[in-house]
Amino acid sequence: MRAVELHRDAGAYALGVLGAADACRFERHLADCAACVLRVREFGVVVHHLAAYAHGLRPGHLPPSAR
Ligand SMILES: [Zn+2]
Repeated sequence: MRAVELHRDAGAYALGVLGAADACRFERHLADCAACVLRVREFGVVVHHLAAYAHGLRPGHLPPSAR
């Protein structure tokens, strides 16, 4: 798999929707790609908001780190 394709997997990895083999491949890429580390962190905020929304929490009730 080409690096550009691995970069595209950052969102899917953050959402936990990659299969086991693709997640392992992405984690190996993540060890050497600062851009993807940043993307996964950024998507992590979105994932947190989605989880809060799924549990019926409004943004005003999120912890300060998630705002
Ligand atoms: Zn990358």
